[in-house]
Amino acid sequence: MEIAVISGKGGTGKSSISAAFATLSEKVVLADCDVDAANMYILFNPTHEEEQVYIGSQKAVIYYSLCTNCGLCVDYCRFNAISFINNKVEISEISCDGCKLCSRICPTKAITMVDSDKSRMYSGTFRNGKMVYGRLAPGEENSGKLVNIIRDKAKKVSKENNLNTIIIDGPPGIGCPVISTITGVNHVVIITEPTISGLHDLKRTIEITSKFNLKTWVIINKYDLNVEKAYQIEKYCSSINIKVAAKIPFDAKVVEAMVHCKSIIELNPSSEISHLIKNAYTLITNG
Ligand code: SF4
Ligand code: SF4
Repeated sequence: MEIAVISGKGGTGKSSISAAFATLSEKVVLADCDVDAANMYILFNPTHEEEQVYIGSQKAVIYYSLCTNCGLCVDYCRFNAISFINNKVEISEISCDGCKLCSRICPTKAITMVDSDKSRMYSGTFRNGKMVYGRLAPGEENSGKLVNIIRDKAKKVSKENNLNTIIIDGPPGIGCPVISTITGVNHVVIITEPTISGLHDLKRTIEITSKFNLKTWVIINKYDLNVEKAYQIEKYCSSINIKVAAKIPFDAKVVEAMVHCKSIIELNPSSEISHLIKNAYTLITNG
């Protein structure tokens, strides 16, 4: 069974809930698909068993032996990735979009495109099972492709180790990596918060999950910070037949758990929040 935890935007507590799901009793495969800001490996410190290079894009490189310093490429680059530094043309690897234009217009063919090989997919073992995660290098694109690689690896690891549950910590937002994260999963859990933007982002996220006909659940995190807005979210979910699996109150212990590299289940298993998360998980996995 694959359970994807996502949120319409960052900062809703998605990773805390993913970490909590991953540390409930049964052993799992945890797939961190938030490749732009992977953090599960920091929390769970997995062993380093496999590393795979991910070629996400190409970057422009100058061969200075051919360059006449004419500056044409500086004028043409729409991403402001090329500039004169100390009177010498240089390309910023982070800003380069890989569009290839400079390599085409350079009169002396001094610019060539090279594969960018700084992104990685890793897999290993953590205290409650196996973990697969990716890290996209700054300025890299095609994160959806890396998400697909992580999900394929997580499925393989799950079969090899007889671990039936894959918990996916997805990226925030509604872009291509989110679609790669949720395609074909058994359950999508959307973490939201009781704010105007929380409700707005929730609606946009549900539009996507409903297009893919996915079993969708909502968890309202820190609901007690705005009880009225939380009620509006519940009403909205009920109007479109989506179950709210839990309403979780704000508790500084959740942050404290993350600071100590633990989930709230590990730090304080008998707390109210831990009970609410366990109940939500049972509801989702039986639903
Ligand atoms: S266009 Fe080519 S020759 Fe001119 S500055 Fe750029 S790299 Fe050098
Ligand atoms: S490949 Fe495109 S983005 Fe990169 S430096 Fe050349 S023109 Fe700029």
